[in-house]
Amino acid sequence: MTPTKLALVVASSTLFAAAPLFSQELNSTFARDPGEPIDQQYTDQMRKYTTDPSFTSPLVDYLPASKTVPTPAKVLGDVSGAPDMLPYAEDVYKYFRLLEESSPRVKVFTIGHSEEGREMIAAAIADPKLLADAKANDARLAQLADPRTIGLDDAKARPLLDQSWPVYYITGTIHSPETGAPTALMELAYRLAVDEAPYIKYIRSHMIVLITPVVEVDGRDRMVDIYKWHKAHPGQDWPHLLYWGHYVAHDNNRDAMAMTLNLTRNVLDTYLGWHAQVLHDLHESVPFLYDNTVGDGPYNAWVDPILGDEWAELGWNNVAQMQSFGMPGVFTHGDFDTWSPGYLMFLASMHNGISRLYETFGNGGADTEKRILDPEEYSRTWYRQSPPLPVVTWSQRDNNNYEETALLTTISYFSRNTRHFLENYYRKSKRAVDKPSREGPAAYVIAPDSADTNRQIELLKVLKRQHVEIEQLSEEVTANVPGEKRGDKAKQQTFPAGSIVVRMDQPYSRAADALLDRQFWAPSDPQKHPYDDTGWSFTHLFNLKVARIVDPSILQSKMTLIDDPSKLAGKVSGSGSVLAVNNSGQISLLSLAYKLKGATIQVAEKPFDSDGKHFAAGSMLITTAPGDHMDDAAGILHHLALDASRLAGAPSVPVHAVTAPRIAFMHTWLNTQTEGWWRYAFDTAGVPYDYINTQTAASQPDLRSKYDVIVFAPVGYSSTAEILSGIPAWNNAMPWQKSELTPNLGTLDSTADIRPGLGYDGLAHLKQFVERGGLLITCEDTAQFAIETGLAPGVSVAPHDDARVVGTVLNTVFVAPNNPIAFGYGAGVPVISAAGMAFNVSNTVVHVGRRASPEAFKDPYEQRATGRGSVEDSDQPQGRKIAEAEPLLKQQPWEPKHLNEEETRNNPRVIPVQSRPDVILRFSGSKDLLLDGLLDKASSIAEHAIVVNAHLGQGNVLLFGNNPIYRGETVGTYALVFNAILNYQQLDYQHVPHEPAPAEKDKSKDKDDKDKDNH
Ligand SMILES: [Zn+2]
Repeated sequence: MTPTKLALVVASSTLFAAAPLFSQELNSTFARDPGEPIDQQYTDQMRKYTTDPSFTSPLVDYLPASKTVPTPAKVLGDVSGAPDMLPYAEDVYKYFRLLEESSPRVKVFTIGHSEEGREMIAAAIADPKLLADAKANDARLAQLADPRTIGLDDAKARPLLDQSWPVYYITGTIHSPETGAPTALMELAYRLAVDEAPYIKYIRSHMIVLITPVVEVDGRDRMVDIYKWHKAHPGQDWPHLLYWGHYVAHDNNRDAMAMTLNLTRNVLDTYLGWHAQVLHDLHESVPFLYDNTVGDGPYNAWVDPILGDEWAELGWNNVAQMQSFGMPGVFTHGDFDTWSPGYLMFLASMHNGISRLYETFGNGGADTEKRILDPEEYSRTWYRQSPPLPVVTWSQRDNNNYEETALLTTISYFSRNTRHFLENYYRKSKRAVDKPSREGPAAYVIAPDSADTNRQIELLKVLKRQHVEIEQLSEEVTANVPGEKRGDKAKQQTFPAGSIVVRMDQPYSRAADALLDRQFWAPSDPQKHPYDDTGWSFTHLFNLKVARIVDPSILQSKMTLIDDPSKLAGKVSGSGSVLAVNNSGQISLLSLAYKLKGATIQVAEKPFDSDGKHFAAGSMLITTAPGDHMDDAAGILHHLALDASRLAGAPSVPVHAVTAPRIAFMHTWLNTQTEGWWRYAFDTAGVPYDYINTQTAASQPDLRSKYDVIVFAPVGYSSTAEILSGIPAWNNAMPWQKSELTPNLGTLDSTADIRPGLGYDGLAHLKQFVERGGLLITCEDTAQFAIETGLAPGVSVAPHDDARVVGTVLNTVFVAPNNPIAFGYGAGVPVISAAGMAFNVSNTVVHVGRRASPEAFKDPYEQRATGRGSVEDSDQPQGRKIAEAEPLLKQQPWEPKHLNEEETRNNPRVIPVQSRPDVILRFSGSKDLLLDGLLDKASSIAEHAIVVNAHLGQGNVLLFGNNPIYRGETVGTYALVFNAILNYQQLDYQHVPHEPAPAEKDKSKDKDDKDKDNH
């Protein structure tokens, strides 16, 4: 301990001794039991580690003693929140199990495992009487949660409300560098189990507190590893947490829609399994405690208004309580809007509960540190009358004091109002079931469509994970489908038997409604900084046709529940030696090439009809080798949710043979968050790859001999300079590898030093890889990297101007529908765009380092000078004969500028025809561009290219301006990537006519308008 730290501790101890316990005496709500002994040693340590007396409260500045129940010190060796120490998940669990062994008030359950097999637990704490009654209590809560079971009869609900105890579920450390929650929750559990203070006894006897101390278990263990490394290497830089969970980092708290991660599924299953009323998630960032329960607008448009009132009630009450203890820097209104339902806690809001989240102040480890705040963090505002202090010495104990105090006060408030919150819970559940007769809609209906089945199943799997009931029509039904726009007449649509129905008269209707409906964020909204994506419609992102039905009469139709959506696919029809699988943008088509290794696989280059069925270009023709069992193929097809037909013989259609491409999946050591979603998609689709990093590419001169495709998924806001240079090498090396000290690192990939980047050797190797016929796939910042390093001749990033796009779902049009990348798609496909990234293409190489004039990409007719005639007409100087100009060609925003003879003469920058980039996909026009979310001033990006295939040597560089594989939500665009991989040898230059005849132009406009219907 440094002398300064010691001085501080002495000073604060003195203050404690002198401070009269005003709050304690005045606030009888939280009075202690005067007869209960205190664990003096533990209490002294807690006080020692608290850096200022205002950073604790009468609720947590002592620890009651127990003869039988061990304190957290038994496992930790010191008190909760002690400096320089973080427990592994296993040690946290060990303590919870000690509690269970020593106290009848605690029960511990396994709630599932992480992707890497680590256990997740939940501990229930209450009086033994309540725990013994837990099963019967849950049966009562289940009826309140699903009021259909009591015929929506309030008279039947009343006794259930009188007899039931609510469940309050607290979850800790989903974000692994936010390290404080596990120790705070260990101590909270002890207090709840042991303390005889009247208010704690009241909590124990009136509700069940459920605690999951570690949500992201894989990430926790890695975080403890790097923290231990840091303590063993004082004065050195230590690596940031490169991998949290197996797949993603911070985005594990954006998974509540698609529910791809085990932790999300385990938490929801536990939350609904207990029929809990609150899901309260603990985070760390801003000083000192932001209870985002009130947050900011816009609020999510699909939640029950009762929830908005509950947020206000709990949030402001919590702040007021903390204020009364004199704890500075507590607030509940702030810049978090509750628009997106992607956050873990929001699972509660979508399932008739209450979502809450604390941000306490954390140091990213257990070091006690001097923290210097920004002016906006310590400023006094109307909603933060006692702001945080501008400079503090902050400890993990301070953090734990805030977390525990806030939780204890809010649980206490909850315990005094259990009937009120249970009644709200019942009312919200009942109103969710009543949805069709209140706000509507009545149902969402998805007609069977063999082209969509694979992606329909993906959507149904999401709904199943959300505990939404799905049914299937047993009879044909005709229903009114509302028009697209206000005032449009409703159309009648007939849905055949077998159509999927998601009824809105079920308890979790809001979860389905929020996912399947459309979103609109007004450009004029007072909230100028959306906290996350503004649009997410799964109908669009899964590229499906889903009808929103308002008329409740459809609910009278005959239908049956679907248990296993995967049963909807895997059908093999016909007989014959050739197995044909239609390409319709399925996520699992590429996987066939790996699963059927012995088979001969060909891809049809044109559409064809056979045995009365239509097959799109890109369909697969499979001939199994002699001795292979066709039954295996059927099993594999079923597993991959693919339908197939047996054909008597090979259809007469041009084909090319495909083999299983050898894929390298390359990551940086800067960040692995965004590429993690790609890895997740590849793994779930069954596409194998070698996981390499930029340092591997730097050390391997001949990448082409090992790989056909290199996937360089987005790094996440990195620059080309960073990708090349890595982390500056001025200081010490930072290893990311398994060692005795760090047993949990290096499972996915490892390096002795994370600092070196791709480097110029790596860049040269990548270039050579492409030139020798490889395919490099890039997206967002890695697309920018490819452009800036000369790997994508003729492509540049389009200037953005003032367009506003914030995680918005946008409409697109395929420019090259015959390119293999577009196989299986219709006229366009909805994409999610993070910030409106788009490309310009050019027939000359773009001057690197110099921004091309925007004029160079404009329609030359727009540049006509002032004079006679119209904009489409020519000027004519007076007093001489007309001299005809070279004809100007009308240029579309996604097209390269046509070069005339003058411009090509002696110009080494002109790209040879076969090396010019192909635009695959472009944004729709301004009028049709927006599907879901926020879009403002779209003209600078409208109609611009967003997927471009550039050519270099014999190979290709594919660039995505949108992220086609994102958060498990963009199932509709996965196949763009998978098509490119499967057909990587067929991505040659596509001759796209640059000047359609006038008649064709008009037709293509019409076509664009029609395309909208398909989205
Ligand atoms: Zn967080």
